[in-house]
Amino acid sequence: CGIVGVLGAGPVAGQLVEALKRLEYRGYDSAGVATLERGRLTRLRASGKLRNLEEKLAANPLQGEVGIGHTRWATHGKPTENNAHPHAAERVAVVHNGIIENFRELREELMGRGHVFASETDSEVVAHLVAEGLKAGADPATAVAAALKRLKGAFALAFLFDDQPDLLIGARRGSPLAVGWSDAGVYLGSDALALAPFATSIAYLDEGDWVVLRRNGVQFFDAADTPVDRRRLPLAPGS
Ligand code: GLU
Repeated sequence: CGIVGVLGAGPVAGQLVEALKRLEYRGYDSAGVATLERGRLTRLRASGKLRNLEEKLAANPLQGEVGIGHTRWATHGKPTENNAHPHAAERVAVVHNGIIENFRELREELMGRGHVFASETDSEVVAHLVAEGLKAGADPATAVAAALKRLKGAFALAFLFDDQPDLLIGARRGSPLAVGWSDAGVYLGSDALALAPFATSIAYLDEGDWVVLRRNGVQFFDAADTPVDRRRLPLAPGS
């Protein structure tokens, strides 16, 4: 339902939760974040209110300086902690808005190749598809671009990778997603409102786009994987 990502200049867990709070108005049944702790993907998820996630974070403070977060409105699978996003497979974690319509076929195909699924969601297939590409030796951007071509349905996605502290990847098809910039970092958000506390400028992904974020540069690609520029607009402070 709501997606955020932060590549920051210090621990990002607080910013992830603050951005998720600004997406609460959309409704949700569970929430979660993933960061890189000493380079390793680390997830914290909770069913119910963001307060439940905040309590977990208070008990297990995360120090990672890159992360993704999600508020879920369940479409496939009960609103349990285990079905909450981020979903992970091996060296990648993903948050997803929308529905992967061909997830049953993809899950069967992936299970046939030995993948073991940990949730009942449609979203988890995306993590496994990308994990498989990485395992075959593809770099993260190539693995994501290949996975996107297998997906049917409407989605916004944000990816975080094990051992990649300067990388986030986002993708949009049918659900909005924006990149934000500030002096302190770069951001992903499903809604400009989520980025308003941090970003001073934003650019929306066009339909079918995907985007590679690093602290010192953001590269957009269109649905044909051609590098493209997207118009960056100032974001009024406090909007
Ligand atoms: N279809 C996904 C799920 O049920 C994502 C739902 C959402 O947009 O929050 O987990």
